[in-house]
Amino acid sequence: AVRVRFAPSPTGYLHMGGLRTALFNYLLARKTGGTFILRIEDTDRTRYVPGAVEKLISTLKWVGLSYDEGPGMTTFYGSCYQSERTEIYKEYVNKLLKDGNAYRCFCSSERLQNMRMMAQKVGKGVTYDRHCSYLSQSEIEQNISQGIPFTIRLKAPDSAVTVKDLIRGKVEFDKNHIDDTILLKSDGHPTYHLANVIDDHLMKITHVLRGEEWLPSTPKHMILYQSLGWDIPKFVHLPLLLNINKSKLSKRTGDSHVEEFAKLGYLPEALINFVALLGWSSPYDRKDEIFTLNELISEFSLKNLGHSNSIVSIEKLNFFNKQHLLLKAKSPEGLSQLTASLRELVNEKFRESLYLTDEKYRLEDEYLTLVIKTILQRMHNLSDIPELCKYFFVDPDYSSSESIHLRSLFTDDALKKVATIAYEQFRKLENFEYNDEEKIKKTIKDICNSSKIKQAEVMMILRYIFTGIKVGAGIAETIKAIGKKTSVERLNKILA
Ligand code: GLU
Repeated sequence: AVRVRFAPSPTGYLHMGGLRTALFNYLLARKTGGTFILRIEDTDRTRYVPGAVEKLISTLKWVGLSYDEGPGMTTFYGSCYQSERTEIYKEYVNKLLKDGNAYRCFCSSERLQNMRMMAQKVGKGVTYDRHCSYLSQSEIEQNISQGIPFTIRLKAPDSAVTVKDLIRGKVEFDKNHIDDTILLKSDGHPTYHLANVIDDHLMKITHVLRGEEWLPSTPKHMILYQSLGWDIPKFVHLPLLLNINKSKLSKRTGDSHVEEFAKLGYLPEALINFVALLGWSSPYDRKDEIFTLNELISEFSLKNLGHSNSIVSIEKLNFFNKQHLLLKAKSPEGLSQLTASLRELVNEKFRESLYLTDEKYRLEDEYLTLVIKTILQRMHNLSDIPELCKYFFVDPDYSSSESIHLRSLFTDDALKKVATIAYEQFRKLENFEYNDEEKIKKTIKDICNSSKIKQAEVMMILRYIFTGIKVGAGIAETIKAIGKKTSVERLNKILA
């Protein structure tokens, strides 16, 4: 059975690339009925950021990637936090030492630095010169008894190493580039390489899917597997993420962390859809590229991973976001999620003015849902909501440039005429929030007839009065939603 892991180091936030790695691992597990493991690679305590693990877990939850084994669960191999597995790593290092596959290195950092400088001068590779691998047993014992600090290095073979990658095929690393990797630091902590390989083995990982930046580490890992006599998992190195101009993704150009996208109002569904297509494409003939997580699971396969670098385009993400908003609004659960977001935003942004001038019905589900439906077509992002639906909750802002422009399209006279008649007519109606839209449509017709102004102009003027902006849902629908009390108040203000 497939067992895969996402193995982040808790050194900060989860970025787009990390999300993609997590997603592909997750998809492979779900597709094959396998197991998705979250392992926390926190051996480097100097780079540890407090709170990062909790954030990471909540971000994975937000995007809907649930793990089967991970923090907070008991497993057959013990903790999922590498910092709690130090003893396990030591045990295997001792085995490697005993078998002659690793050795103690007592070289000081000065010696190593000099060695590197010399090597660079003569244009040689900067791998360790293996000085300590030639020490005699008595020299080793003497160094230990003198308390000279040491690291433990893996003994690399004198031959090239070929990595088999499911995307790239065979990748050869010649022997000059293969170092005697440090496995255990002088403080007794394991390095990434050691902990990663031991855990992948003990956790029975079948496929290692990770970013291309880890490819140079893979030959080291293969040597380690071989030295320990272990089976080697299948490797998949995911291509790099690049900007539109082919430069490396940076924060400025869209490599924001996932939480940032959440704050900006993106839907998790859209982000997932977006990162899924960075390096993967569906083998099926589809009419569009809009995938739900379930569709991704059913269409995912390793065969369809590409090997060219992926271009990250925020426009594309925006497009997906819009599509997922529309999709969401179609299902009752989705709509109620959107309604909940709206309530949160209204409470946050309009609370004061809302409570001063408005009835409590503005925060009821029915009203909020109606608002969502009326603004849906204009919305790209959850964070667009407050701007788009302001006039449903607070007085229109007639001083905005959009409003001023709209106002310039008709005369004072027309405005006064329409507002006067509308005021008389709407006052006579029963509360429209409980009324049907037809009555409002009929009233608008009456306004046209008695004012002798063309319907299109009347509509525009009403839109100005009630919303202060140029486009929105149908005006009758909007007036109905705003309700009688507020509508009459707005007309009154215009006439004052
Ligand atoms: N801890 C590494 C990271 O932060 C894991 C790399 C791997 O998957 O082997 O990405």
